[in-house]
Amino acid sequence: MRHEQQRRNGNGGRRAGGWCAVAALTALALTVSALAAAPPAGPSAGPPAPPSAAPSAPRAPEPLEDLGRPNKVHLAYFVPTDRQPTRAWREKITVLMTFVADLYRRDLHSHGYATRGLDVAFDADGRPAVHLVRAKHAAAHYNGDPDFTFMQQWRTVLPEVEAVLGGATENLLVIFAETYDDGPTRYEWRGGVALGCRFSASGGAGLFSAWILRDAFCAATVDEQLRLLADATPIPGRVALGSGRPNSTRFEFIEDGFGAAAHELGHAFGLPHDRRKEQRYIMGNGFRHLRRNFLEPPAGEPVGFSPDNARLLAHSRFLAETPDLEDTTPPTVTLDPPDGPLAPHATEVRLRGRVRDDRGLAAVLYVDPHADTVVGGADLTGGAAGDGAVPVLEADLDVRLPVRPPNDGPCRVRVLVIDRGGNIGSATAAYPKQ
Ligand SMILES: [Zn+2]
Repeated sequence: MRHEQQRRNGNGGRRAGGWCAVAALTALALTVSALAAAPPAGPSAGPPAPPSAAPSAPRAPEPLEDLGRPNKVHLAYFVPTDRQPTRAWREKITVLMTFVADLYRRDLHSHGYATRGLDVAFDADGRPAVHLVRAKHAAAHYNGDPDFTFMQQWRTVLPEVEAVLGGATENLLVIFAETYDDGPTRYEWRGGVALGCRFSASGGAGLFSAWILRDAFCAATVDEQLRLLADATPIPGRVALGSGRPNSTRFEFIEDGFGAAAHELGHAFGLPHDRRKEQRYIMGNGFRHLRRNFLEPPAGEPVGFSPDNARLLAHSRFLAETPDLEDTTPPTVTLDPPDGPLAPHATEVRLRGRVRDDRGLAAVLYVDPHADTVVGGADLTGGAAGDGAVPVLEADLDVRLPVRPPNDGPCRVRVLVIDRGGNIGSATAAYPKQ
């Protein structure tokens, strides 16, 4: 029941909706990478060297592989009765997921986690399986035309895909929905949607508008996709959410679309927003700069997950190499009452409590729900190097956390604790103000 309620009201969905409204106002313009200058020719250098050629070869993402994990990512392409599947839909969705999986794998490696990355389900023919789901209704049934209400797509599309691929409580579903509309609109396309929600240790869903699969943005091969990602051709009459400028460039739409898939999938794995480095973190608006990770020379610092979010992600059943799948019970979190009321302009709280798990704790994450951001986290693993060799069943929490209390009402801190089976337990501390 609680589950159903979560699904309808979608705390992940609500969160996911949040960034769309806010992001366009805060996103910074991208800096386009400059060509490296050619070394100056000396007086006896002979003919001048040709100018340094185009940026060196882009870094191609590694291809998807069948990793044989029990917990797979299932891909679906949802096409209403009055729409036609886009050209090369299977190849395009595979290319998009190749970039997303590469982003996850490389970023977790950079944080020191040994993972082979996301495991997309494969077909018997040895290719990633993308299920074409023919919808029961026309697009307006899902996108709410003419109102284009955001959550209606979540409520209507997800059950039809679940009927084909299995419930999102026990399966991770990534859905591209051909439910957008070509009419004029302020940002991107009408009926555009990007939502993600975790339902359990082994289930969740991400729902994405299929405008990202248009030929202008999504290619059928990785090499061609890298060319599109480098292309700053304006797209007439359209505004990318991250750039906010009319006639935004091709790559800005790709970053918005591919990046949103990475971001919402993060929500589907249980990650909250992390706005501490808003333009760098994937769970902030950093996903809108993802081409930095694939172009040479990079146009800026690569984007990635914060160390605290990466720690939680590394213990997900979808990314950990040896999750404890026997562990199906989430950890319990017991928080102490606060020492006393918070000072009016407090910027820090002390949080104390105790966490327990029946088989082995993994990590803790602290979230300031008012500021909508992660504010801290830690390993809860044992072993000499914290490598999880020794299961830790209990741990004390005692931390000071930076917070931004609301003007009215108590300050809150949400505590998420993940165990070695990828189960997440949570509790919320409330700090009344003086
Ligand atoms: Zn989000």
